[in-house]
Amino acid sequence: MLNLVIFGPPGAGKGTQSQKLIDQYQLVHISTGDLFRAHIQNKTELGQQVSQLIADGNLVPDSITIAMLEEEVKKNPVAKGFIFDGFPRTVAQAEALDAFLESVNTSISVVIALDVNESELTARIAKRQEISGRADDAADKLVKRIDEYFQKTIHVLPYYEAQGKLSKVNGIGEIDAIYAELTAIVDKY
Ligand code: AMP
Repeated sequence: MLNLVIFGPPGAGKGTQSQKLIDQYQLVHISTGDLFRAHIQNKTELGQQVSQLIADGNLVPDSITIAMLEEEVKKNPVAKGFIFDGFPRTVAQAEALDAFLESVNTSISVVIALDVNESELTARIAKRQEISGRADDAADKLVKRIDEYFQKTIHVLPYYEAQGKLSKVNGIGEIDAIYAELTAIVDKY
């Protein structure tokens, strides 16, 4: 199985690059952000539980996020592999993901981290908000999300680096040029 984590701060291009990767490698795309947004839109109990946290730019608690992720993986028993997009966002999530994948006899192949500086992220998300209208893309909420990234999420990088699974890619430039760098990494697996 080919299991990828596509990692990076909000606005790094995780969703855009994941979309291209799933087409080429026939992987199942699991975006925890997309799953939460679907729950909110469908007004599920989970959606109601998380909607305010997400609107405010906070992370959803690990227990809720991990349970949702595991359920989604289990829905795809014949998958050739997965792209985890926006997950893990904490070291506890990374540990839970490793344990869970081990329990189903697989593991993370590689973690690709898209590196984009803060001023570029802010500019990209301001542009995205004009189209998406996402409440959490508003400037004040984005500050909180970037803060969550540097407080909690960035520690996931040394976790995977210690396992020899981390590949960093410059996330600034043409989408296709960045994608070519990603495929060069993925093709090794
Ligand atoms: P995203 O679309 O990946 O930027 O996610 C949107 C929002 O969903 C985030 O700002 C968090 O509030 C929540 N979220 C998504 N993935 C996670 C995660 N792995 N852990 C905690 N919260 C998450």
